[in-house]
Amino acid sequence: MDSDILVSRRRTATITQGATGYLTIDLAALGRNYSKLASMLAPVRAGAVVKADAYGLGAERVAQTLYDQGCRHFFVAQFVEAVRLRPALAKAAQIFVLNGLQPGSELACAESGIVPVLNSLAQWRQWSETARRLKRSLPAVLQFDTGMSRLGFPEEERAELAAAIRDGANVEILFIMSHLACADDLESSQNGEQIAEMARIADEFPGFDISFANSGGVFLGDAYHGVLARPGIALYGGAPNAGGKNPMEPVLRLDVAVVQTRTVPSGTKIGYGGAYVTRSQTRLATIAAGYADGLPRSLGDRGAVYHKGTRLPIVGRVSMDSATVDITALPEGALSLGSLVEVLGPNQTLEDVAGDAGTISYEILTGLGDRYDRHYC
Ligand SMILES: *Cc1c(COP(=O)(O)O)cnc(C)c1O
Repeated sequence: MDSDILVSRRRTATITQGATGYLTIDLAALGRNYSKLASMLAPVRAGAVVKADAYGLGAERVAQTLYDQGCRHFFVAQFVEAVRLRPALAKAAQIFVLNGLQPGSELACAESGIVPVLNSLAQWRQWSETARRLKRSLPAVLQFDTGMSRLGFPEEERAELAAAIRDGANVEILFIMSHLACADDLESSQNGEQIAEMARIADEFPGFDISFANSGGVFLGDAYHGVLARPGIALYGGAPNAGGKNPMEPVLRLDVAVVQTRTVPSGTKIGYGGAYVTRSQTRLATIAAGYADGLPRSLGDRGAVYHKGTRLPIVGRVSMDSATVDITALPEGALSLGSLVEVLGPNQTLEDVAGDAGTISYEILTGLGDRYDRHYC
């Protein structure tokens, strides 16, 4: 795709003139990714993880699009995210808070109809006590730790929890869940260990529906699906499993503007610390995005941007608001003030950028700054 044409078409529509970066979020592609996962899972339901502002893509727009696709189960990490998202969604949508109940948020949580994922006996007691005070039953999800040691009831709390469930009927358990630590790795033996532990938990807590799979888990097979899956990254076009071809469709495109070009002789220092020194005459472009915009500093001397299929390496250190790229490979005059280069798009995937930066697609997505002109299509 020709980025100049794409952007000039957008500019005539809704885009502000003079923006220094254009982040295009393809909601139709998001919807197709959801449909793909939903049909792989059927009759198991596909929920959606929309924490961290839907991995930086915009929780409201994302959740509304998925609601229209039939999604009714939305997972955020923190209560504050649930409070922000609640008004954007119809009543039929349920919002679950994965990190559970923070002391002090119980009444607000109950009143706003947000469902906490209870992770410990302490949280169970707080929620049960809240239900007693309100003289009604309150809904909850129970999360068990099956080997990640992050969130969820630890094994030693299970007996007391089972007793509490038998005694107190004021917490309505909607389903039980756990989370996979290695689902992106199809070969990891930890996947099998975690599902075996989940099976033991299902025996100890019979009669409850189970939610288990994240994006990677969807691709591990039916045994991992439970009745409700919780994909996140795959919806947003990230690869659910490491290696092989990414089965998901890209959702994002990021183009950044050139703010200055120059030609420098051999031996010229570039950027902070003078860390890069040219070895021959070099043409450079400074682009208007830096680490404050989500281009990790670790991309310095490693990453690249693209122009019409040509790779333009990032040279020297990435600054807060800009980065410098070597454009010697392009015909002279190909780039000038206001031209656009591709950071994410047909030439460079999220996984490419994450790989160059020594991180994962999740961190690239959630780091995308808010200075780009965002456009939903
Ligand atoms: C973030 C998260 C998910 C989604 O994981 P992806 O790998 O993005 O699909 C699912 N469940 C829990 C508990 C999570 O924290």
